[in-house]
Amino acid sequence: MTSPSADGPPAAPGRACGECTACCEWLRIDAPDLRKPPGVLCRHACAGGGCSSYARRPEPCRVWSCEWRASTTVPETLRPDRCGVIVMETPEPPGDPALAGYVLLAFWPIAMLPIAALDALLARLIGAGMEVHLAVPGPPGDDPRSAPLNALVGDIVGKGATARLEAALRHLAALLEDSVPMRAADPAQPSFP
Ligand code: SF4
Ligand code: SF4
Repeated sequence: MTSPSADGPPAAPGRACGECTACCEWLRIDAPDLRKPPGVLCRHACAGGGCSSYARRPEPCRVWSCEWRASTTVPETLRPDRCGVIVMETPEPPGDPALAGYVLLAFWPIAMLPIAALDALLARLIGAGMEVHLAVPGPPGDDPRSAPLNALVGDIVGKGATARLEAALRHLAALLEDSVPMRAADPAQPSFP
């Protein structure tokens, strides 16, 4: 079977979806030809990876890629299905590059995440002036909840303080469980957070 993004946006050298179908499960698809809520694996996703409807997959699937696949800025160890986090770039609002950034959608509990690898990634992104949000799944069928991380962890990351970082992420994730859904970052692509 062909991987979800095999001929979509270019992949970084050495990166391919392989057995991963995390985006086919954890993102909402709201296209005329395919609708599904977050947290439900798409009916076209194949066991072992790939898309059984690849030639007819909807537009959101054709144009989207996670940042692990798109960029070696995200370490090899953070392939979404192996680490429980999908790193997503948020579209830059026209004329406002200061609002460009990333969302880390943690679909596993914080305690299961590779905190040291996330520490290094957050240090790199925040150090480069990017806005980074943590997102966690909402109730079944609902959109993820998200909140900014920069002010919370900006002084922690990159110093080997993984216990403090994990505690901060746990705290924020617990707060997010009772918050409202995140909004689509780009009205032109409402299917993906
Ligand atoms: S989450 Fe990334 S690596 Fe996984 S299937 Fe989607 S694009 Fe590929
Ligand atoms: S149609 Fe379903 S399985 Fe295929 S790429 Fe889109 S979300 Fe994934």
